[in-house]
Order: sequence, then structure tokens, then C-alpha cells
Amino acid sequence: SDTLSEEVLGDDVRLEASLRPRTFEEYVGQDAVVEKLKVYVRAAGQRRDALDHCLFSGPPGLGKTSLAHIIASELGVGIHVTSGPALERKGDLAGLLTNLNERDVLFIDEIHRLNAAVEEYLYPAMEDFRLDITIDTGPAARAMKIDLPPFTLIGATTRTGLLTSPLRDRFQIQERLDYYEPKYLEMILNRSARILGVPLERDASKEISTRSRGTPRISNRLLRRLRDFAQVEGEGHITRELARVSLDRLGVDASGLDSMDRKILLTIIDKFGGGPVGVETIAASVGEQRDSIEDVYEPYLLQEGFLQRTPRGRMATHRAYGYFKRAPPPASPQ
Ligand code: ATP
Repeated sequence: SDTLSEEVLGDDVRLEASLRPRTFEEYVGQDAVVEKLKVYVRAAGQRRDALDHCLFSGPPGLGKTSLAHIIASELGVGIHVTSGPALERKGDLAGLLTNLNERDVLFIDEIHRLNAAVEEYLYPAMEDFRLDITIDTGPAARAMKIDLPPFTLIGATTRTGLLTSPLRDRFQIQERLDYYEPKYLEMILNRSARILGVPLERDASKEISTRSRGTPRISNRLLRRLRDFAQVEGEGHITRELARVSLDRLGVDASGLDSMDRKILLTIIDKFGGGPVGVETIAASVGEQRDSIEDVYEPYLLQEGFLQRTPRGRMATHRAYGYFKRAPPPASPQ
């Protein structure tokens, strides 16, 4: 693959598990969020209560799944992992819920993709730890309530705006994860390099950190690729020069933009005169899903000042024109 999006969305479960932070102490960055969660976890633990339901939002690969595992482990309870699309029928959810132990964590990734029937079924479970089920069909049908043990639902989503408000409102704790600053990615890279047993020079770590789109999962993926280059074409350790050359070969440039980022910007500039242009139109032109444009690409391009959102659509900024060494049209935003 030549785009980082595929790297982001693809999965190497085994590797990711080995590099996943296990405790709050190992979890780097997101300080404000982590500090609050530590308090909530501790308070719930002291009261022997289930932690309130938590909703984590943010672009993929920023550590939502890791946080859920850490919370369960610090609470000293079990974690059951599933995802919105995997829960097709009410029965799928009922099976999970009735298997929970007291205070366990149920983690639902991509919770915005729950279908409506399953979602409604979840409401009384979240609110009153109760399931409303119907047994039998036709005239013999009876409604029954099943009590559940108190549990914590942790939901992960790219954007809270994708959730219906009744679902969103049932999460007492809601936290948004942001892109990581390079200094934090450096810490993550150094830890990962130790775990993988590959020597990583300080300057090389810095180089990778600024080219990772602010995303730990991308840092770790790039590190793994560079380990291959270092092993086969270098002396086994990752130097700054090796990092630079290899990252260029992987299509990751000095600003950390990948080929889809560039394609989006160039489309806006070349096909739409710099914008404004609607996200639907951009998605169709570059051949990507609207959701991934909005949840994966756009947030980073906005944050880095390559793109601006206006009421009439997205516009390429001066920085975007400068990046492609083009002169910006008079109307383009700074
Ligand atoms: P998705 O929602 O796409 O599953 P996510 O936000 O749940 O993504 P994780 O799976 O938790 O992301 O993180 C991806 C990888 O990035 C982890 O395996 C871990 O190696 C690394 N990582 C993420 N956050 C951190 C962090 N704060 N400190 C150290 N490593 C991290």
C-alpha cells in the first residue's frame, strides 16, 4: 500500500498488542484526559462501584482501545471487547451483557455503527443495568426483565457527532483524544524500539515523530518498516539518514502528509480552484469514503493549517499552495 490511511486502518493485531501500553504510567501524553480518568477509576474502586460509562472519541490510532484496556486493568476487572458492526442482532448484545461479571468493562469500538434496534436495547442496560427481552412470539409473547450486574460501557468513536443524542447522553464521562505532539511520539517510539529490540538514534526518533501525522499507531508502523530497511540495507540500527531516506521511499514527506493527504489538497487546488468545495464532492473526486475524509484526513489537514472549513465548503490555504510551490489565488485563506 502506498497510503498511510491503509496503514492506519489495516491491522497487525499481534504487533499492536505487544506495543500497547499496559498502565496509565506507560500511556504517554493525553495528560489532561489521563489525569481525570485516574481520579474516576480510583474513586469508583474505593466505592467498589462500577466506573461510569465512558465515551472516547478521536481519529483512529490515538489510543482509545489502549485506554479501555488500561482502565479495566486498573479497576482490576475483566474486559469484553466487541464493535458496533459486530453486534448485528439484539441477541449478540444480550449474550455479551449476560456474561459480564460485576463491574466488568464492555468495550464497543466504532459504537456509532450500532444498528438502531441494538442501540435501543442498550439504553436500559446502560441506565438501569437491565435488559428488556421478549420471549416467544405471537400471542404467547411475554416481556421479561433481566437484571444485569453493574458494569462499565466504554464506547469508542471517531466523532461524537456520529452518535445519536440518546446514546451520547447516556455516557457520563466523555473525553476526546487529540493528535500527539512530536515529543510524545518520540517517547512512544523509544519505548517501542526497546520492545522490538532495534537501536533507534535520537535524531531518527525525532524524524519519525514529525512524520507520523500525530498518531502513535503510525509511529509504530513506520518504526517497523524502518527496522526492516535497517536490517536489510543498513547496519541494523536506525540512523537519521536511514529514517529520512526510508520515509521518503514510503511516501511520507517532511510534513508528515501521505499520498491521500496530497491527493485531497491537489484536487481542491487543481479541480476546484482552491475551493470552497463540499466534502462529498472531494470524496467522489479522490475515490474515498466521505467518513474517512472527515474522520481520518481532514482533522489533521485542518489542524496543520493546510485546509480551512468555511460555511460553503473546504478551502486550500496559503500553506497548502506553498507546500506545492504554487501561488495562492487572492481569495484563498491564510
Ligand atoms: P482505533 O480506534 O483505530 O482502534 P485506537 O485509538 O483505539 O485506534 P489503539 O489501538 O489504542 O488506538 O492504539 C494504537 C497503537 O498505538 C497501540 O497499540 C499502541 O502501540 C500505540 N499507542 C496509542 N496510544 C498510545 C499512548 N498514549 N502511549 C503509547 N502507545 C500508544
